[in-house]
Amino acid sequence: GTQTPPPHVAMLATPGMGHLIPLAELAKRLAQRHGVTSTLITFASTASATQRAFLASMPPAVASMALPPVDMSDLPRDAAIETLMSEECVRAVPALTEALLSLKQRPTTTGRLVAFVTDLFGADAFDAARAAGVQRRYLFFPTNLTALTLMLHLPELDASIPGEFRDLAEPLRLPGCVPLPGTETMKPLQDKSNPSYRWMVHHGAKFREATAILVNSFDAVEPGPAEVLRQPEPGRPPVRTIGPLVRAEDGGGSKDDAPCPCVEWLDRQPAKSVIFVSFGSGGTLPAEEMRELALGLELSGQRFLWVVRSPSEGGVGNDNYYDSASKKDPFSYLPQGFLERTKDVGLVVPSWAPQPKVLAHQSTGGFLTHCGWNSTLESLVHGVPMLAWPLFADQRQNAVLLCDGVGAALRVPGAKGREDIAAVVRELMTAEGKGAAVRAKVEELQKAAAEGLRDGGATAAALAEVVKEWTSADDSVY
Ligand code: UDP
Repeated sequence: GTQTPPPHVAMLATPGMGHLIPLAELAKRLAQRHGVTSTLITFASTASATQRAFLASMPPAVASMALPPVDMSDLPRDAAIETLMSEECVRAVPALTEALLSLKQRPTTTGRLVAFVTDLFGADAFDAARAAGVQRRYLFFPTNLTALTLMLHLPELDASIPGEFRDLAEPLRLPGCVPLPGTETMKPLQDKSNPSYRWMVHHGAKFREATAILVNSFDAVEPGPAEVLRQPEPGRPPVRTIGPLVRAEDGGGSKDDAPCPCVEWLDRQPAKSVIFVSFGSGGTLPAEEMRELALGLELSGQRFLWVVRSPSEGGVGNDNYYDSASKKDPFSYLPQGFLERTKDVGLVVPSWAPQPKVLAHQSTGGFLTHCGWNSTLESLVHGVPMLAWPLFADQRQNAVLLCDGVGAALRVPGAKGREDIAAVVRELMTAEGKGAAVRAKVEELQKAAAEGLRDGGATAAALAEVVKEWTSADDSVY
């Protein structure tokens, strides 16, 4: 007889490797464990070499497709990344509608289209799914339940807080969440006059149009909001916690399969002796902070592996958001003689490292991170305690969650002078002071993560439930 084509899901990734990587991980997991194929749809603006290599490394069950470019030339040059992503999404709705219609029309090659999934800046793409007649519209939230809680409450907070979040005398107390000082809320909430703020309020409202919300987190790391969001609530889509979905050590771009100087260097270091220093796929430091960090690492006397990019220019820290490749020679910004003086204890690599491999390596004992959520999850899955050095986006509130909430990280003190940096690096790496408690907590979270990911664990159960919704026959879009 004829074979029924497999269920197929169209997934739209908004710009940034931090959005694409976990969505691709979801697609891979759905293919391997649940027999669901996918097409990853990306925007024209993100066609970087890093992204191309990454998409080329996907298994055959995970196809990809780039949308045609949209005109963004009318936007101001200093538009926030949140604004750029949101605008590009809205403007791509017609092209996306066409793409979804074409996926619907060729079920024998791709599978029968059963659902559309997009991430946190893509909720406007629900309009394209609706226009293409795709009934099941899912939101994939690549950060945590705390951030989701904030987003879902944003329309009402916008109405009840007349001034700026950063001027609030009391921290925000969101249901189940660690108290969040207004100054630490995500970057686009720091200035209501910036269009990116309006976009976030808009997205928070639009999230409620989702059939369900899939969140890349797990209960043990934020038990409070997990408890609250597990309860059904009228007017709010069901929330399913499906994390931690992180890349396997060998995944993430063909570059990673070549012999890697980072790993060869780590192989020669003692167990848990190295602190890995990295600010995500696009994070950059101002020149001054980059210098203090170099001198602080040197002063700490600890071994380090540092991914450097040339410094940020406007102090914003996201100069490389659309393309991870460092724009200039980053080494030229390091203090004079630094590389020579630290050559026996440190390795400095430009732009990009195979992060999952580094975090999984037995020589890695700490992670100085910008607290991007993927980096956080990768660190927890590999049991690596963290030092929090947030830069932009949701990173400051993630740092609050990690340091004040669950206790999986120490915070790099605000002034970021070399002495402070050296002291906190030592505290973490030698498990002095609060370093010991952080290490113990991270071990506990690593176990909880592994438990959730095993066959029959929380992740598998939640995804099985979702796939059941997608394949229940009657309201099939096919
Ligand atoms: N990443 C990597 N090598 C690098 C920098 C980043 O493999 O040198 C990966 C990292 O493993 C993670 C993702 O890029 O999966 C970064 O996502 P995250 O959410 O931590 O931060 P963002 O890039 O969104 O700021």
